Amino acid sequence: MKHLERTVEQARRLCRARGVRLTPQRETVLRLVYGSARPLSAYEILDRMPATSRRPAPPTVYRALDFLLEQGLIHRLESLHAFIACHHPDQPHNGQFLICTGCGRVDELCEGHIDQSLQEAVDASGFRTQRPIVELLGTCVSCRNNAD
Ligand SMILES: [Zn+2]
Ligand SMILES: [Zn+2]
Repeated sequence: MKHLERTVEQARRLCRARGVRLTPQRETVLRLVYGSARPLSAYEILDRMPATSRRPAPPTVYRALDFLLEQGLIHRLESLHAFIACHHPDQPHNGQFLICTGCGRVDELCEGHIDQSLQEAVDASGFRTQRPIVELLGTCVSCRNNAD
């Protein structure tokens, strides 16, 4: 829980420094994504929103997700249609993700040189990337150990 508070505090600081607002609604969505051990789909996030007197409409949650994506506080995993927290949102990056098909665990690699050489190769091809995300499907260490 301590870690969650630290991460939320970091997000608040980043937003303040950028002059954007981490509204209570956005912070609630951020906490759900940060607090989950696994990537969450938009439906799961909607489902887990606290049942206050005014339950947020789906568009509100989607807008909050868009905001968090824009600020680099979360990433969207295309292959899973799910969102995952970013643990170094202060440095802009696209990131590479190791997705375990056994247990669903996802780890983010943050190798700037991969982003960079990928971007150079893409630029050279004339292709325009919309969502430059690298997702690697495979088996995590603990699933591999369990299989032995
Ligand atoms: Zn990241
Ligand atoms: Zn696994």
